Amino acid sequence: MPPLLEVRNLSVRYPARPTLLGRPTAWVRAVEDVSLEIAPGETLGLVGESGCGKSSLGRAVVRLVEPAGGTVRFAGRDITHLRSEPLRRVRRQLQMVFQDPFGSLNPRLTVGQSVAEALEIHRLVPDRAHRTARVAELLVAVGLDPGLADRYPHEFSGGQRQRIGIARALAVEPKLIVCDEPVSALDVSAQAQIVNLLQDLQRDRGLAYLFIAHDLAVVEHISQRIVVLYLGCVVETAPARDLLAAPRHPYTQALISAVPVVDPASRRQRLVLPGEAPSPLAPPPGCPFHPRCPIAEARCRAELPPLREIQPGHRVACHLA
Ligand code: SF4
Repeated sequence: MPPLLEVRNLSVRYPARPTLLGRPTAWVRAVEDVSLEIAPGETLGLVGESGCGKSSLGRAVVRLVEPAGGTVRFAGRDITHLRSEPLRRVRRQLQMVFQDPFGSLNPRLTVGQSVAEALEIHRLVPDRAHRTARVAELLVAVGLDPGLADRYPHEFSGGQRQRIGIARALAVEPKLIVCDEPVSALDVSAQAQIVNLLQDLQRDRGLAYLFIAHDLAVVEHISQRIVVLYLGCVVETAPARDLLAAPRHPYTQALISAVPVVDPASRRQRLVLPGEAPSPLAPPPGCPFHPRCPIAEARCRAELPPLREIQPGHRVACHLA
């Protein structure tokens, strides 16, 4: 089956330290040469520490930030440089759910108006009666009482607000939703409810997700495949089960060692990485992970390890893997 989303060699850079004339004197390398694909109906988890470029990658996929290089193809079409009306049409199929459900909802609009906004932008309902009926249908789909459509976002809990954000995304009947840390701001029970809701919607509507999170325990639960990002680069990618059972990159091993396990007999030894991730303004030469890697050797400081396949579907960027 051809991929629904195909990202090739994508880079995202932000200007830093502008001069008085507004020209950047340096660039923050948020995403470096990333390639990935997502099949229809699949969930790809994207995991890494804060600041590793996950959100920049998600935003570049939905074209909220301009890529500095590479291509984004959606449903077989190159959308990397689309603008105005053609981009608006693509956005109908390519939606985003944000981390902060409160910040992403207009506090002056009722919940019904917020959900209806997406229907109106894309001219999906002919009149007010259809709009009201469709809003009610969407609220029911995300587990909310349609009688609450006249309330304002501040009257809802964090989990309920995230459901409203999901209803807004669903309004345009997308094929792919980029979920950018959708449960990070929620308590544990609300997290589980939102993850279950996303899985139910995927089963019923055939949705694909790019699911971004810093918490591997959450990503593991929902994803068929996982991509691990470090300092803007893919360091490992594999089917979720393989990655969790046999991580090959030292960074992935450290992330997995921090995932809590229920069974004390299978408790893993926690690997604590020294220091912080280097600044994307001045990434280190060679392997970007070498300043924190417990097994780094001389070659790691000089040569960038290529992302190579070590078994079908499992790729690692490490000289020693
Ligand atoms: Fe560590 Fe070297 Fe592998 Fe990088 S290439 S992860 S520094 S062993």
